[in-house]
Amino acid sequence: MTRARVGIDVGGTKVLGVALDPAGEVERELRRDTPRGDDSVGELIDTIASVARELGADRSLGVGVPGLVTRAGVLRAAPNLDGVADVDVAALLRQATGLDVFVDNDATCAAAAEWRLGAGIGTRTMVLITLGTGIGGGLVASDRLQRGLNGFAGEFGHMVVHPDGPRCPCGRRGCWERYASGSGLAMLAREAATGRRLSHVVELAGGDPQSVRGEHVQDAARAGDEEALAVIDDFARWVALGLSNLTNALDPEMFVLGGGLAAGADLYLDPIVGWYRDLLYQPSLRPMPAIRFARWGSLAGAVGAALLPEVEG
Ligand SMILES: [Zn+2]
Repeated sequence: MTRARVGIDVGGTKVLGVALDPAGEVERELRRDTPRGDDSVGELIDTIASVARELGADRSLGVGVPGLVTRAGVLRAAPNLDGVADVDVAALLRQATGLDVFVDNDATCAAAAEWRLGAGIGTRTMVLITLGTGIGGGLVASDRLQRGLNGFAGEFGHMVVHPDGPRCPCGRRGCWERYASGSGLAMLAREAATGRRLSHVVELAGGDPQSVRGEHVQDAARAGDEEALAVIDDFARWVALGLSNLTNALDPEMFVLGGGLAAGADLYLDPIVGWYRDLLYQPSLRPMPAIRFARWGSLAGAVGAALLPEVEG
């Protein structure tokens, strides 16, 4: 009997589990609310364990969590989970389920999903970037998922691209995710709106420039609004700047862009590729790395978590 492949993605609001069939398609999905409150660790572990049971996990279980995870499966910090710091998630889940438990950062899991079953199939060196509220990252190099010394590799969102830029929740200034994430897009749009441009976008936001969000810009851009398209272009330049820096560091074959903003791939892909081509170092000496949008959308973390037992090592 083949063993069940079950993966669970723990997010700030939802615990999402999937069971994969032998071909790597999602057979079943299950969602639970993420327990909140400072004493919620025990409840969170119970929730994950019950989702794993319901999905039929029989020998192993993969879990993706949003934060810095050590190679041993200890979640050191998770800003979006109440009261979770220095929690040995792997050990607690082993105790609760009796399964072999593999725990990793959610974006690292998403990288595994896209590499083995998604946009990056067949690549040996691939970088996954999730463009959501912040930016997550995962890295495959030399045909292996990379975790770094501590397990903290791939925190690309906190590369500083402007030392005097806006304050980041991490405590520093000008991190890439202040510009190139969903919140970055909203900030660029509010800046443009405060300069009394973007009248159509501000209208969509109910008339207040401070209420402008990314989706208002996207809606106006899809309707052909020139000023909104200019904000998208500015945003694309910030995304491409980070990708060109990562290219110098990692020399990848492909970038896969996932996260919430991947839903607007039709708007972003061309300007990102255009700026990336302009910003790339020594373009005449290398094939340009491919830039693709992710296959798995919001399931990427859970699908990749289900693959962790196979890609460990
Ligand atoms: Zn930061």
